[in-house]
Amino acid sequence: MSRIDVEQIPVLKDNYVYLVRDRATGKVGVVDPAVSDPVLERAKALGWTITHILNTHHHGDHVGGNLAIKAATGCTIVGPKADRDRIPGIEIALGDGEKFRFGDAEAEVFDVPGHTRGHIAFWFPESDALFCGDTLFACGCGRLFEGTPQQMWTSLGKLKRLPDPTRVYCAHEYTQSNIRFALSVDGGNPALQARSRAVDALRAENKPTVPSTIAEERATNPFLRADEQTLARGVGLDAKDPVAVFAAVRKAKDVF
Ligand code: ZN
Ligand code: FE
Repeated sequence: MSRIDVEQIPVLKDNYVYLVRDRATGKVGVVDPAVSDPVLERAKALGWTITHILNTHHHGDHVGGNLAIKAATGCTIVGPKADRDRIPGIEIALGDGEKFRFGDAEAEVFDVPGHTRGHIAFWFPESDALFCGDTLFACGCGRLFEGTPQQMWTSLGKLKRLPDPTRVYCAHEYTQSNIRFALSVDGGNPALQARSRAVDALRAENKPTVPSTIAEERATNPFLRADEQTLARGVGLDAKDPVAVFAAVRKAKDVF
């Protein structure tokens, strides 16, 4: 049973900020506040009091609201140990395998470098919820700004083995363009074709396609499927070297 309520707030062009409320104690964490005002307004409208900020990585569209939200609420800022120098206002720094608890809700932290060198993900196992920032996207993954294909493949591997029903709360609404690319390398995948239709229908009504589930991502996300022969063939390689396949798929996406 879920111990948390999640409120999704679309901000800027395509970012999602999340309010995560521990039902038992009413403590509320904000995941990756790109901005402050819409987040404070939504919390107020819900009658929720923000107690924590949970940052996945240092990019401005994930930490831009940190200091203003802290000034307004006195909340505690939590983020990646490996990047503590680049997270505004950080007070609690977390690394791979550490547990973070606010109220009765407990998250396990994964180091998932690749997009940036100090990127973490928060997994709430009792609530089947994963907050993965810009590492894993719905049908995509983050660009490799500060990491290697090997690092990102290893990082995605940590997320790929989470339980099927795990909801994937990523930080951007990129799904439709991600699927357009995915079809170009894995067009014969019936699960991907079905997902494409479902996502187009949601976007036609301006509805979010996030969260997805880990089961869906495993079946359709080309960046989790570099060890599958059908995907490897799509980029003219062999699945025995998934890192090379992953690198080729990521490179193709960069120029798609
Ligand atoms: Zn980013
Ligand atoms: Fe981002």
